[in-house]
Amino acid sequence: MSVRSILPLMLAGALGAVISQMVVNAQAPRAPASRATVPAVAAVPAAPAAAPALTPQAPAQPEHALPPFRPEDPPGRSLDANLFVQTSAEYRACCLQAYNLASLRLAAAVAQAAEPADRLAVVLDLDETVLDNGAFQSMMIRSKLAYDQRLWDLWEAEHWDKWELVPGAKAFILEARKAGVTVIYISNRNEKFREQTRRGLERLGIDVADEGHLKLASDTSNKTARRDAVDKDFRVVLHVGDNLRDFDEAFRSPAVAADADAAASAAAIRRRKEVVDEHADDWGNRWIILPNPIYGEWMKPLDRGLRDVDQLVPE
Ligand SMILES: [Mg+2]
Repeated sequence: MSVRSILPLMLAGALGAVISQMVVNAQAPRAPASRATVPAVAAVPAAPAAAPALTPQAPAQPEHALPPFRPEDPPGRSLDANLFVQTSAEYRACCLQAYNLASLRLAAAVAQAAEPADRLAVVLDLDETVLDNGAFQSMMIRSKLAYDQRLWDLWEAEHWDKWELVPGAKAFILEARKAGVTVIYISNRNEKFREQTRRGLERLGIDVADEGHLKLASDTSNKTARRDAVDKDFRVVLHVGDNLRDFDEAFRSPAVAADADAAASAAAIRRRKEVVDEHADDWGNRWIILPNPIYGEWMKPLDRGLRDVDQLVPE
């Protein structure tokens, strides 16, 4: 059975025996924290290390065989984060607060600008900044699966009718456009799903005025070149995102090996906070960040040398 044929079943809650056969060893390595790693196919995790190794006598694995999906590890790890986003009024208030502040900064920038408004731009990320992918997250939790690039690809490609809006995003975008400011999206959604991305935004009442204003990922999740391209044509007055790398690649998590010791993990976590502090004046001014407790760059140093629970502040 193909992944393509499985996802609708999962979204319908009818997992049954199919998925349980595909889910293997709970000790398998955790999936990448990024939600939109590219290229998609290359990002599919290799078969779990604990899976039986093929011996020289064993038949070769058919090329079309798919690596199994992996269970969330530890089970239920993302449930509270998703409940916060999906059920708490506090999450909604945080988003409205962020976009209200963005509106204030935008109005001030327009009022003070010497150039025409359309030479000004606001740059927004898409996932968990404009688009709410709660249905995808719910599907994974209900099916007890860890993130898998193949599932995300199908979400991008075929389920654009299930995307929703982050609170405040649409009002801000419409406000910027009404003011004559150019709205540009820099997203790590895959370029090959451009048409679906555009269609999904339109369904939510957000028209992409110019294809060049929708900058998707072709070969890298690093947004620097795309930000630089925008800077050539516009004066960007605001960046809005949910992941620090939406603002600057300096926030990329330091590399931490899967078998790194606890000190390396702690150093990476500490370093990320230090870089945020180095830009203390930018937050709420030229950079507006939305909460995302579910996934993102922040997760990359975790699960390295320590169990998650051991990352908590000591008693
Ligand atoms: Mg995002």
